[in-house]
Amino acid sequence: MATQHTEMKYSHSDIEFCTPAEIEEYQNGRLREALQYLAANSPFYQRMFREHNIEVDDIRSVHDLARLPFTEKRDLQVYNNDFLCVESAKIVDYITTSGTLGHPVTFGCTDSDLERLAYNEKKSFECAGVKPGDIVQLMTTLDKRFMAGLAYFLGIRKMGASIIRVGNGIPELQWDTINRIKPDTIMCVPSFILRLVEYAEQHNINYRDSSVKRIIGIGEGLREQDFSLNLLGKRIKEKWDVELFATYSSTEMGATFSECPYGCGGHVHPELIIVEIIGEDNLPVKDGEVGEVVITTLGVEGMPLLRFRTGDMSCKVTEQCRCGRNSFRLTPLVGRKNNMIKLKGTTIYPPAINDVLDNTPYVVNYVVVVQNSFAGTDEVVVKVGVADASNINVVKDLKDRFRSKIRVAPIVEVLDPEDVTKINFPAMSRKPVKFIDNRIKS
Ligand SMILES: [Zn+2]
Repeated sequence: MATQHTEMKYSHSDIEFCTPAEIEEYQNGRLREALQYLAANSPFYQRMFREHNIEVDDIRSVHDLARLPFTEKRDLQVYNNDFLCVESAKIVDYITTSGTLGHPVTFGCTDSDLERLAYNEKKSFECAGVKPGDIVQLMTTLDKRFMAGLAYFLGIRKMGASIIRVGNGIPELQWDTINRIKPDTIMCVPSFILRLVEYAEQHNINYRDSSVKRIIGIGEGLREQDFSLNLLGKRIKEKWDVELFATYSSTEMGATFSECPYGCGGHVHPELIIVEIIGEDNLPVKDGEVGEVVITTLGVEGMPLLRFRTGDMSCKVTEQCRCGRNSFRLTPLVGRKNNMIKLKGTTIYPPAINDVLDNTPYVVNYVVVVQNSFAGTDEVVVKVGVADASNINVVKDLKDRFRSKIRVAPIVEVLDPEDVTKINFPAMSRKPVKFIDNRIKS
């Protein structure tokens, strides 16, 4: 087993501060190990190498990766068991992710994989300035077959900080916990912060003077491409002057891109993952150009992935960060490749629509539905729950707001906020559902 992610073989104790050349050399070595491991243990990749006449010994560097086929989300679903590289007795924890074909994909994590996840989160928390002795309140689910909550728990434990596992939702319990145990850091889906603030205001809780100094957001972006706060980030910051950190991660990556205090993109941890940014032509784009995030995991024992297409659109920033790290950063996600919408000839991603709605004071909640029009083009219906807005023509006002921000206007339907809430929070979902894609994909 070639998993030696914690064994440092380079000059600096943290690879992220090494020179770009050292990082690249290091990753080339780790890639060769990963390929040998796949060739020896992964039924799926053994078959891929055979069918494409690939000799893994010929792949010597990260640049050679472009000669290998991609792994698609669909492959994970159709050949789920063939990705597993160990016998089932070695699996400690089973996780599922939602697949594109309707049924979920199962991931198995070995003991070594859980160690790797702990190491990943430890590095990510350190990047965000969390220190041993700090107290972190986890406002995220620890069970329900999710990886994230467990990984945070393991990482906080590993770094010597303290954890309070409150779980998601229930503002009353969150505030009771903050008042009792006085955490300095909270981790949650950022939009939940607005609910927390609202609850505090309704119940005379002096949240601005609470112990909380830092919020680490998961699952939703907080910044624009130029790293200024997006509308959600601004709304949180206007209400509550805490430090905001965005993160980007997924079960498939088993790695987190976390912001440092300079807040200019998520730092990659080069000992855990190789990232390529791929354009429409399936070739790597230039640094700084938007493309799909394609990842190769390093040091994973249970279900390692090679050139996996995440479907997330982002770009690499390669200049040294002001924090001193040379590991490149990813910009906030532009959107999901699958969610790309061609509305009246304009390419947009749902986050741009969300930003308009997040910034409209009378919009309580919303869901964006994209579907095929009779003409076969994309049609977007925005269903909004609206607070008292009796003197505003909501449909006209919203359409004007859309036209001024994204140049095109979707169809607007006004609903009772309670009905929108029912769509936003179905039973099995950790993140609020704000986007529904009913398009028929070819
Ligand atoms: Zn930095």
